[in-house]
Amino acid sequence: MRPFTFEAPADAATAVRTVSADPEAAFLAGGTNLVDHLKLGVAEPGLLVDVTALTSREVADLDGGGLRIGAGVRNSDLAADRRVRERYPVLAQALLSGASGQLRNMATTGGNPLQRTRCVYFQDVTTPCNKREPGSGCSAIGGATRGHAVLGASEHCIATHPSDMAVAMAALDAQVHVLGVDGERTIPFGDLHRLPGDRPDHDTVLEHGELITAIDLPPSPIARRSRYRKVRDRASYAFALVSVAAALDVDDGTVRDCRIAFGGVAHKPWRARRAEEVLRGAAADVRGFRAAAEAELADARPQDGIDGGNAFKIPLLTRTLVAVLRELAEES
Ligand code: SF4
Repeated sequence: MRPFTFEAPADAATAVRTVSADPEAAFLAGGTNLVDHLKLGVAEPGLLVDVTALTSREVADLDGGGLRIGAGVRNSDLAADRRVRERYPVLAQALLSGASGQLRNMATTGGNPLQRTRCVYFQDVTTPCNKREPGSGCSAIGGATRGHAVLGASEHCIATHPSDMAVAMAALDAQVHVLGVDGERTIPFGDLHRLPGDRPDHDTVLEHGELITAIDLPPSPIARRSRYRKVRDRASYAFALVSVAAALDVDDGTVRDCRIAFGGVAHKPWRARRAEEVLRGAAADVRGFRAAAEAELADARPQDGIDGGNAFKIPLLTRTLVAVLRELAEES
């Protein structure tokens, strides 16, 4: 591991100034992903700036029934919050499906969306990877692709985003508060992460040194009937092959409104807007749910691979979405 300097500034503005001024500096919060990368040699910062105590650890009520989640709120605390469980069950379920209890006790709300892909080639510094080393190539293409993207990938990178929490946040239209050297800005959660294009080394739209300070969940009556379903190779402590975050409002057998996002299939949490459009006003039945999935996945492109590839994700995601919507409709 490369030696690094450690600083713990007194406030967030100082932390932002410090990291912004040093291209080799990085923020450290829960460290559940970054510390792995330090050990693997994937990240080699010269300076780590501890922000653990610099952002709020509170979940605060907003007017109208929304919530403001401080970036320092631990994943386990957020999942246990009674208001989250009642108003946004999809988020509590997504959090509890991620990682292990020990990791959730450390991981923060601000850090979780910024975790990096678990593509095995990204984590193996002996192999080419455009995300780790731009221009070096993509070892996954033609390699082991079982866990990789079927939506929105590019010839430069086919990685998936690993966060479960982020999929629920995308479905809930969360807003991300960010502090930079030029002040604060707010980013719709759906715009935080990028598709890979020709710059897969950039996971998000954040500038170097910008710090997530809080995430808002807007008031959302529909979210009270919402669900997260994660399909993975083993029952716990594994990343999603596919996942679905969904909320559904059914009136007299017809879909009045819905929110849908997918995980495990793209470089970012995938808001399924085409599926939502197909569903609104449609019959709340299996045929309608399947049509919505097929509309969203019409442009899906599976990858061949030495491990059998990932074409299975398309029917698996279709079945998962149909099952989740069916359950939500039956509870309406
Ligand atoms: Fe790297 Fe992306 Fe290719 Fe994985 S898929 S090897 S992260 S460029």
